[in-house]
Amino acid sequence: MDMLNPERPYQICTRCIMDTTVPSIRFDEDGVCNFCEMHDIIAEQYPLDERGKKKLDVTVARIKKAGEGKKYDVICGCSGGRDSSWTMLVAVKKLGLRPLVVHFDNGWNSSIAVANIKNACDALDLDLVTYVADWDEFRDLQIAFLKASTPDVEVPTDVAIHAVMHKIAVEEGVKFIFNGHSFRTEGIAPKDWTYLDGRYIRDVQKLFGKFKLNHFHNFNLGDYFYYHFIKRIEVIPILNFFPYVKKDVDKIIEAELGWQNYGGHHHESTYTKFIQSYLLPRKFHVDKRRTENSAMIRSGYMTREEALEGVKELYPYDETLIGYVAEKFDMTEAEFREITDQPVKSFRDYKSYYPMIRMLGLPIKTAAQLGIIPRLLYLKFLG
Ligand SMILES: [Zn+2]
Repeated sequence: MDMLNPERPYQICTRCIMDTTVPSIRFDEDGVCNFCEMHDIIAEQYPLDERGKKKLDVTVARIKKAGEGKKYDVICGCSGGRDSSWTMLVAVKKLGLRPLVVHFDNGWNSSIAVANIKNACDALDLDLVTYVADWDEFRDLQIAFLKASTPDVEVPTDVAIHAVMHKIAVEEGVKFIFNGHSFRTEGIAPKDWTYLDGRYIRDVQKLFGKFKLNHFHNFNLGDYFYYHFIKRIEVIPILNFFPYVKKDVDKIIEAELGWQNYGGHHHESTYTKFIQSYLLPRKFHVDKRRTENSAMIRSGYMTREEALEGVKELYPYDETLIGYVAEKFDMTEAEFREITDQPVKSFRDYKSYYPMIRMLGLPIKTAAQLGIIPRLLYLKFLG
């Protein structure tokens, strides 16, 4: 079903397995989707050949130069998951950098995640800053997003991590932040599934929250300009420079960092596990395995048949998770279900920067063409 247009017939990309469960998906005349188009653009930016290697050398040289006379070269976020653990290892062992590790504790860490973070920092001899969210306020915001009834329930965590890493970068005089996202394995999150926007967070909390956001680190448009243009902080998706075969990476981080696997992608957080395995597929028809498997097809790590097989069954989930989440939210299971059973909405139903971004379409397109902002940002929001 297409949530924006129920009349739209079902269609699936002929190259990957993205389909009309993404309301704003577009297909070209060959039936290839816009996410494949975006993938090819990023692949061109991060080729796995001499050109990519040269670009990486230049980038690392810039990072080392900026770090001269300072304690750290780069900020690395760490969740205890595969991507961020691999990022830390790459930064230290492959690139010879001195990262400061930042962990945002939103109250939902699994015990494996906590052990993974500690073991990785010990093994690599890295300093760790843990930023603990104000639980009453953060929980209130998470409940507000459930009440808003959009698939963006994890946006408060994603935005807070981003904001906290920037804040610490400024405090430490560090100019670079590594994010552990790889387009080769994780793909590109459709905006209909994950819409990150500080104004959107403020509106949802105002409508459905009990508290004012006094402690939460939001990331508003003003913050973007401050960090990007005034403080000149760069966020680098460093894993894009490397091949990423998950089972090979697992072996390396298990051996070198004492890393333990916890099952599904991003299941290092119990809330994420609940959201990805239960709420998103069952309420919103959103299956994150679809973006991941699609990315793996495009990268040559999976066949299209394997990818389709991987999403054939509805995402399995652990029955006890609902009770666990309800209890952490201080609700009965019935109260919790009453909230999650509300009709599906989209970020478009709330105030956000989106209408303004659309209005500024042409200047944003020009800025993207000139390399002032990432071209992908343009394609993702306006393409
Ligand atoms: Zn596609």
